[in-house]
Amino acid sequence: MYDPRSLKAEEFIDHQEISDTLAYADEHKADKGLIEAILAKAEERKGLSHREASVLLACEDKDIIERLYALAEQIKKDFYGNRIVLFAPLYLSNYCINHCTYCPYHAKNKHIPRKKLTQEEVRSEVIALQDMGHKRLAIEAGEDPINNPIEYILECIDTIYSIKHKNGAIRRVNVNIAATTVENYRRLKEAGIGTYILFQETYHKESYELLHPKGPKHDYAYHTEAMDRAMEGGIDDVGLGVLFGLERYRYEFAGLLMHAEHLEAVHGVGPHTISVPRIKHADDIDPSAFDNSIDDEIFARLIALIRIAVPYTGMIISTRESEKVRERALHLGISQISGASRTSVGGYGEEERPTDTEQFDVSDQRTLDEVIKWLMDMGFLPSFCTACYRAGRTGDRFMELCKAKQIQNCCHPNALMTLKEYLTDYASPATRRVGEELIRRELLNIPKEAVRQVCAARLKKIEEGERDFRF
Ligand code: SAM
Repeated sequence: MYDPRSLKAEEFIDHQEISDTLAYADEHKADKGLIEAILAKAEERKGLSHREASVLLACEDKDIIERLYALAEQIKKDFYGNRIVLFAPLYLSNYCINHCTYCPYHAKNKHIPRKKLTQEEVRSEVIALQDMGHKRLAIEAGEDPINNPIEYILECIDTIYSIKHKNGAIRRVNVNIAATTVENYRRLKEAGIGTYILFQETYHKESYELLHPKGPKHDYAYHTEAMDRAMEGGIDDVGLGVLFGLERYRYEFAGLLMHAEHLEAVHGVGPHTISVPRIKHADDIDPSAFDNSIDDEIFARLIALIRIAVPYTGMIISTRESEKVRERALHLGISQISGASRTSVGGYGEEERPTDTEQFDVSDQRTLDEVIKWLMDMGFLPSFCTACYRAGRTGDRFMELCKAKQIQNCCHPNALMTLKEYLTDYASPATRRVGEELIRRELLNIPKEAVRQVCAARLKKIEEGERDFRF
């Protein structure tokens, strides 16, 4: 029986409810009256249910689709302004005992070199990332209780936070590791992590079990209930995602929204972020072997509809996608992107992008400086801000700020100050020129006079060498 408040995976992601939702969406996909009513509700910016959003996803009317795109872009602007948060993944270890059929780190892959960073290597990776200008990382690791136990992950987090190289610092470490116990989540929280990210891969239980034939990840319920355990362990910023291409996208979309509704119903706070990875070529992996791949058009619609259905969530797109696809996605609701990513273990220390231990092919291979300039040339404001979680504004406290539209008095000046740090310490002369001009203009967009004045004074102090201001 479908029950969003249940703590059992098969009840809050109820297969029958998803099937009924898809049938309902098919039945109503040309129902103009209903679609207009759903659009009117979407315009209130309070989100949509999985059923309502599924009707919009099924709708094939070109005019409606254009309206969805415009609304998604507007909602993103209303809640997040023109800011885009930057981060980079850091691969710690590709040892893995799981058998995920789409991932090159699967245990049966005998020719991929297995590698795990020593603390010394973590240090040099982090210095390379700091020297690019990164302040926020997402650490990634395979699942292997012998090679990558929780103690190893915790030690790496400590190392990462401890490194202060020149003016660099990693101020927020998000964590993307396999589903684990409440106790381990508690330890991660104590280590000062930002968001705990775990992709569901697919919400379809039968497919999930086939795609994960062996290993601890085979257990659908344990994986699907991970966010509830994370919340119980005190982590109130959690990041959802599905790996698009594994199952039918409409099924995944409904499941993803049901998961968000479940978190809201049980914990009073929805997902802090939603990621939209699509399956890519990798060593030993041929994406065409998965026959549910989605084209760029459907991908765009999914992004826009996630933004409309879950208006407050951060939305992440990685370098799995090309510059062109990312550019379009930025206009449909994305609020965070990675830049200059290396998806191999130890990749940042190398001059050339190493491919031997890569988790997936990187499509967008530009430098961080190029990505920053590209964002600014399009009118976006790149942000390296990490203030919220450091000020204790996590979970519902962050969502309150977002819902009250106070972000413009808080996140906006923080974005300007962290961009100023980037321009001063790391940018090329051309990027710096564009950035300084952008900061001058954007300073005027801080609504409160007092905040504007403090921000202007702090920007000056950054020029004089001070760092790490925040509202
Ligand atoms: N091992 C952890 C887990 O199982 O959740 C950490 C995550 S893994 C390093 C990061 C994510 O990469 C996976 O959750 C999966 O969605 C994605 N991934 C795996 N293989 C991929 C591929 N071939 N193309 C694109 N993304 C892939």
